[in-house]
Amino acid sequence: MGNITLTMIKPTAIKKNYAGNIIEKITDAGFRIQAIKMMRLSKAEAEKFYEVHKERPFYGELTDFMSSVPIIAAVLEKKNAVEDYRKLIGATNPENAEEGTIRKLYATNIQENAVHGSDSDENAEIEVSFFFSKKERFNADGSLI
Ligand code: GDP
Repeated sequence: MGNITLTMIKPTAIKKNYAGNIIEKITDAGFRIQAIKMMRLSKAEAEKFYEVHKERPFYGELTDFMSSVPIIAAVLEKKNAVEDYRKLIGATNPENAEEGTIRKLYATNIQENAVHGSDSDENAEIEVSFFFSKKERFNADGSLI
């Protein structure tokens, strides 16, 4: 069981200025932020991140959306991080997300669903390395990971 997951706060949630509220939900749920940055993905970077979905009909629209304005990416640490974070964010489609979940509270629709959360420990490692080097991740005492 891994102890990290990768989240992104997606473009619409950034535009609506929900970042602070979302980060508060995350830390209130017991996650510690190891690393965080705001950046704008290029179309090519968004395509690389979502490569597993390249055959899906929404791939073009999704990668246009994800590169439309900046996102916030963060590495979150907690025991059982991947599973616990998926519970905290709720279902992909906010219409199916449970009350109180981040997507229920802050998503706009199935594509603009407020946040990303890794779906396995293996993908968490890959996604964390996509955004962060070892020099950008910190332990609670301030030392490098
Ligand atoms: P997740 O793991 O809950 O993020 O869901 P998926 O891995 O299935 O999909 C990745 C992302 O693609 C989702 O978070 C949405 O932003 C987007 N997405 C998923 N399904 C659809 C869809 O049916 N239509 C559109 N436009 N976007 C979708």
